[in-house]
Amino acid sequence: MPSEYELKIKEVIQRTYNTKSVRLEVAPGVDYKAGQFMCVTLRSEPLCKRCLSLSTSPTEKGYIEFTKKLTQSDFSCALNALKPGDTLKVQYPLGKFTLEDNPADKIAFISGGIGITPIRSIAKCVVDKKLGTDMVLLYANRSVKDIVFKEDFDAMLKAYPKLKIAHVLCEAAPDFKCTVGLINSQIIKNEVPDYQERKFFLCGPPLMVEAMKKMLTDELAVGKEKIITENFVGY
Ligand SMILES: Cc1cc2nc3c(=O)[nH]c(=O)nc-3n(C[C@H](O)[C@H](O)[C@H](O)COP(=O)(O)OP(=O)(O)OC[C@H]3O[C@@H](n4cnc5c(N)ncnc54)[C@H](O)[C@@H]3O)c2cc1C
Repeated sequence: MPSEYELKIKEVIQRTYNTKSVRLEVAPGVDYKAGQFMCVTLRSEPLCKRCLSLSTSPTEKGYIEFTKKLTQSDFSCALNALKPGDTLKVQYPLGKFTLEDNPADKIAFISGGIGITPIRSIAKCVVDKKLGTDMVLLYANRSVKDIVFKEDFDAMLKAYPKLKIAHVLCEAAPDFKCTVGLINSQIIKNEVPDYQERKFFLCGPPLMVEAMKKMLTDELAVGKEKIITENFVGY
């Protein structure tokens, strides 16, 4: 059951030019599942409350973390000013975008931009626990500089043979292996030839998630029961 806690900030990490992670000292005795989210309140006004996925895995001890794309909003401005030692109100754990709630031996993640946060959590948990789950990630971004958690995923690729990552970018970059364009059914067929054997975890802006779900069901005949979604309402 989710409860509200007041947690102290341990560390603030600039992930990319427009994303920041905030690490919080954990509430004692609170377990969460990889892929779940929390509600974060920065000030008392309702506008300063946001749902944010946990970008850490339960295997990473001593802290929990959320990672936010910084916009012009009041919430983002307040978040940008946070420093270690400050406290935040958080309610967690919430949500069912998890492997425990949707078990599968073979999965494919489709993510856009900051939608990678719960996927980073699930992938890190699978890798750390050596669960043996076969994972393919299709990760769409505008350009290389928008890829969040690139170093973490590079480390996971080295540590875990059953992980494959296919980057899909709008802008090509020299010496960076990627497909240029938007994720479509042909890219899925090329990168995930056994797509009929997998459960799909989709996360990102609602328009992208809906478009990917429609493409999977209409063009690739993937059953709706094999598609698990997390919509980042607000983008
Ligand atoms: C389950 C879940 C997990 C999420 N995880 C992340 C994450 O890990 N990282 C991340 O950066 N973002 C995440 N989001 C999105 C996040 O909650 C914010 O909506 C988003 O960051 C935009 O907020 P903002 O303050 O930057 O922009 P704003 O300018 O405040 O929001 C843009 C527009 O969206 C509207 N809006 C904002 N939030 C909501 C809402 N909850 N419902 C309806 N309309 C809304 C605003 O009114 C505004 O019109 C998640 C959302 C959900 C539902």
